[in-house]
Amino acid sequence: MKKISLLLFLIFSYVFGDVTLFKDKVSNGRCFLLKSNESGYVAFSAKRYKFFPTVLDNSHAYYALVPVNYYAKPHLDKLIAVTFENGQKRYKTFRVKIIDGKYKSEKLRVNPKKAHFSKEAKIRIAREYKEAQKIYNDITPNALWSKSFIFPLDTKITSPFGTKRLFNGSLKSYHSGTDFRAKMGTPIISANDGQVVLVKNRFFAGNSVLVNYGQGIYLGYFHMSHFLVKKGDFVKQGQVLGLSGATGRVTGPHLHLGAKVWGVQVDPIQLIHLLNQI
Ligand SMILES: [Zn+2]
Repeated sequence: MKKISLLLFLIFSYVFGDVTLFKDKVSNGRCFLLKSNESGYVAFSAKRYKFFPTVLDNSHAYYALVPVNYYAKPHLDKLIAVTFENGQKRYKTFRVKIIDGKYKSEKLRVNPKKAHFSKEAKIRIAREYKEAQKIYNDITPNALWSKSFIFPLDTKITSPFGTKRLFNGSLKSYHSGTDFRAKMGTPIISANDGQVVLVKNRFFAGNSVLVNYGQGIYLGYFHMSHFLVKKGDFVKQGQVLGLSGATGRVTGPHLHLGAKVWGVQVDPIQLIHLLNQI
């Protein structure tokens, strides 16, 4: 009898498992979203992604974001959700597909000599990269946000995330964020409540504001002409972080919005849409 009830319990939890995967196909450079009734984590590609308490509903549920690296090739994979119920570990495996994001290509022909940076610039680029990665890898378990995310500007997207940049025929980089149209001096607002963790002029990104929203989510607001916050400030959704500009390696004024989840660069638009589904 005991065995039968255990079996029934196992069947029940498999069929009506309390972990939900929102979509089993995700493009490179985007995230999977899972929801659970229990705490725990998701194992994917030898890494663990914690289930955090949700903040957008009163269900006391948990959610996990699993980022897929931009350079991941299309393949079949699996996500293993490990949850804890009354001290018992429960496993649920999801078969998933990483698909090609079909990002457009931008062919750039440049004089190879011009693609080289000075020794000083290289040192600066490396230092700034290291500094930012250290920030992005610092995961605040609490959510600093408590409402749906909004866009930092209500304007046209002039360049989407992910465009491949082919220099002289070979893939050298990709567009690491989303560009919004912004004439010089347009107020740039925070997408949610968070904490400013970096306010600095950087080589590529120009005047940059990085905001930590907690639970491994960071947004970067780049190329500003003017800062209106300082490092350490707690900002509210809609608060002006600075004014748009054309600082850094750009051809004209605009806002470049970048997103990191667990230290991985992802599509900010998909991220915002996903977070608002929780
Ligand atoms: Zn950009």
